[in-house]
Amino acid sequence: MSNCIFCKIINGEIPCNKVYEDDKILAFKDINPVAPIHIVVIPKQHVQSILDLDENTVSITIDVFNAINKIVRLLDIDKDGFRVVANTGINGGQTVSHLHYHILGGRSLQWPPG
Ligand code: AMP
Ligand code: ZN
Repeated sequence: MSNCIFCKIINGEIPCNKVYEDDKILAFKDINPVAPIHIVVIPKQHVQSILDLDENTVSITIDVFNAINKIVRLLDIDKDGFRVVANTGINGGQTVSHLHYHILGGRSLQWPPG
């Protein structure tokens, strides 16, 4: 998607602080972190949100969670714990229309979220 900020990060038009990459997934530090560790995990294929996953694209989530499993070990937050969030739509607070998952860690997180 030509006007998608995360697609621009994937194709190198916009720089990022990369923490993980494979053929299907890119993960980078969030530019506006809300926790000591705040990583954005995105599929390289443009899908707008969870709502746009279908039988052809839902396997993306397997790739995402495989990557998350590696990233939390790389960043050494697997033992203390972390949170994975996919903000979706207006009430979910989604601001970028490219499917993404936040990994939050490095401190104790509150529940419920605000
Ligand atoms: P959401 O609000 O759930 O759609 O998440 C989008 C996230 O992307 C926000 O936490 C932003 O801070 C983050 N973000 C936006 N632009 C960039 C960027 N260029 N580099 C890193 N993170 C970004
Ligand atoms: Zn995109």
